[in-house]
Amino acid sequence: MENNLNLEVYNGIEATVNSYLFTDNESAILVDCLRNSEEAKNLADFIKSKNKNLTHILITHGHPDHYIGMNVMRQEFPSAKIVVTKQEIKNDILGFSTWMESVGWLEKEPSMKPKSETNTNGFDYQNNIGVLNAKELSLANGAILELNSDYSGAECEHLTTIYSKDLNAFFTGDFCYNGVHIWLAVDKKNIAYWKTQLDTFSKGLASLQPKIYPGHGNVTDVSLFAEVKGYIENFENTIATSKTRTEAMDKMKALYPNHKQADFLLFNSVNASISE
Ligand SMILES: [Zn+2]
Repeated sequence: MENNLNLEVYNGIEATVNSYLFTDNESAILVDCLRNSEEAKNLADFIKSKNKNLTHILITHGHPDHYIGMNVMRQEFPSAKIVVTKQEIKNDILGFSTWMESVGWLEKEPSMKPKSETNTNGFDYQNNIGVLNAKELSLANGAILELNSDYSGAECEHLTTIYSKDLNAFFTGDFCYNGVHIWLAVDKKNIAYWKTQLDTFSKGLASLQPKIYPGHGNVTDVSLFAEVKGYIENFENTIATSKTRTEAMDKMKALYPNHKQADFLLFNSVNASISE
């Protein structure tokens, strides 16, 4: 390939979340930066081992498993720009971190508490995250990453997908998980839209047959869209037919015995759907 585009997949441990590193002969672009600072430091070492100029860190959506590593990235790569496609995603990120701090979820990540008048050492979300308002990002040798965030709320209120023509690869963000329980602690209208968008992806990508890189879990093919839709339908049926949270957990674990993250992702999805 003339533009020398290459992809490195970095599998995070916490939340089984992925980071994706695009490189060419000179530059690099990172997509998402993991759930905790310790893993982000290892990711930074991995990026440095490639000896490329990291120009951008793109955060696909405002969930912490995709952005808590930002402070480490900023320290390790001070000249790289942390970016999102649109203002709404920046708002989602700051909103989520503000909520996390309020319930004590950032006690292990104090550097990611939002900067404020009372916490001047906090992370400066306003100034550290740029808004692209653009449909693409380019690497130094000319490869283009096509960005799309023209979606309604699904797994998150605003999501970004990426397509690389050079690699014939589609990066679903958290529209898709592979072999990992899916975060379904979302509104019913989000779930309804999500399922129709999965059909749209299936149809729209049928002729290209790109490799499919999910937000969580391993690379696969376009059959993942139907697989994810089936998971969501099984979850809905399970919730509708279960009297207790325990019953719902047991049914989902029986249906998906090898899926990862039952204790966090499935647990919270069930808790949000059945009151006890
Ligand atoms: Zn995620």
